[in-house]
Amino acid sequence: MYDASSYDVLVVGAGPSGAATGYWLAQRGHRVLIVEKAHFPRDKTCGDGLTPRAVRQLNDMGLAERLAPHLRYDGLRAIGHGFTLEMPWPDHPDFPSYGYVVRRRDLDAMVAEQAVKAGATLWTGAVATEPLLEGGIVRGAAVHHKGDSPGSAGRDEAVRARFVVVADGANSRFGRALGCARRRDFPLGMAIRGYYTSPYHDEPWIESHLDIRDREGNHLPGYGWIFPVGDGTINVGCGLLSTFKGWKDINTSQLMDAFSATAPARWGISPETSTGAPTGGRLPTGGSVVPHVGPTWLVVGDAAGSVNPFNGEGISVAYETGRLAADVVHQALEADDGLALATYEQRLEATYGLYFKVARTFVRAIGNPAVMRELVRAGMQSRPLMEWVLRIMANLLRPDELGPAEAAYKLVAAIVAAAPVA
Ligand SMILES: Cc1cc2nc3c(=O)[nH]c(=O)nc-3n(C[C@H](O)[C@H](O)[C@H](O)COP(=O)(O)OP(=O)(O)OC[C@H]3O[C@@H](n4cnc5c(N)ncnc54)[C@H](O)[C@@H]3O)c2cc1C
Repeated sequence: MYDASSYDVLVVGAGPSGAATGYWLAQRGHRVLIVEKAHFPRDKTCGDGLTPRAVRQLNDMGLAERLAPHLRYDGLRAIGHGFTLEMPWPDHPDFPSYGYVVRRRDLDAMVAEQAVKAGATLWTGAVATEPLLEGGIVRGAAVHHKGDSPGSAGRDEAVRARFVVVADGANSRFGRALGCARRRDFPLGMAIRGYYTSPYHDEPWIESHLDIRDREGNHLPGYGWIFPVGDGTINVGCGLLSTFKGWKDINTSQLMDAFSATAPARWGISPETSTGAPTGGRLPTGGSVVPHVGPTWLVVGDAAGSVNPFNGEGISVAYETGRLAADVVHQALEADDGLALATYEQRLEATYGLYFKVARTFVRAIGNPAVMRELVRAGMQSRPLMEWVLRIMANLLRPDELGPAEAAYKLVAAIVAAAPVA
């Protein structure tokens, strides 16, 4: 029942992590197939915020010009406890000092197209339904062509590949079929967002509200955001972490209603300006999905639980882990030796290990609402402290600055010590 075809690498999913993996492997001349179950342009529930780290990756993939027409912003406006701070992105030798807001509909199509230009083959409307096993080793996937585009018919085929990169997002069914699972002791994020028309759709700041509350007025460890999209709309949402008691009882739709109702009136956020019902999703953080690597496969992006626990940023890490995976797979193909894949775990650890550890400690500490409240209250009254926190949270500390681990541990320790324990 299957047609056979064969590639060096099969990538499952063409979101940020899969498209970046495909791009970097195709650049090096490998035969890469990316299978994507949707058709581009397709939407993805997201805040659409690109930090300097994400912009760096997009620039490296040759997309600077394609980004230019989109909403470029200078930094973060943080609001909390009656204070407002506008903080430009810092100067950094490795990253630009600006970000973009780009709807995922446009962004993901752009990067997937770039992977194809680099030489990758992309099948859309194609679902990887299960791993293809040969002698217990993963050698590709069974792919179902949905037949949902004009002139195409549904059919199944077996795709053989030397290596498989799993980039199928936060739910990662394919990853679970390989035995990957999320560590329950790691923080999980939950977020929801919607679009509204707004007269301030093209402001050069993204806005973050640091004292979100539930309907009873209790502080919650998370933040609300308002990101100008530049196309007449703003992206409004809120995100929360699973590190506080009772997180399972939070209804994110109600939280979104509460946030929309209390957000600054000037944005014009109301049921009348909404362009559609808000949608939500989960954010597996801090490298929480394990294992990251098997004898012939690797896991990247949300499928590997790569979201930054500090701020819920997942796009930059998806591009970066895709690029790391491509590097490692390239070495394995060049050496004709799958053992090279084992270095992926070490490279992840070297790049994110300590940072994620600090982030997990930090978000556990702010799981105590009193700690979160005191942190925000103290931070909002000190620009230097908040600018430093911004650099830590967006993983933008310069090498010449205090080591991020040491700095953040000190910060967390000071706040935990200072906060009245609830
Ligand atoms: C509400 C919300 C707001 C967020 N806001 C931000 C933000 O502002 N900035 C930021 O940096 N991050 C944000 N994130 C996180 C960000 O969206 C993710 O980290 C990012 O999309 C991860 O990219 P990915 O490629 O790993 O996965 P995805 O973007 O989920 O891509 C996975 C792709 O795989 C495809 N796929 C799945 N299964 C299969 C299969 N079996 N066969 C073929 N294809 C398959 C899917 O269709 C999809 O295209 C937000 C997340 C949420 C939920």
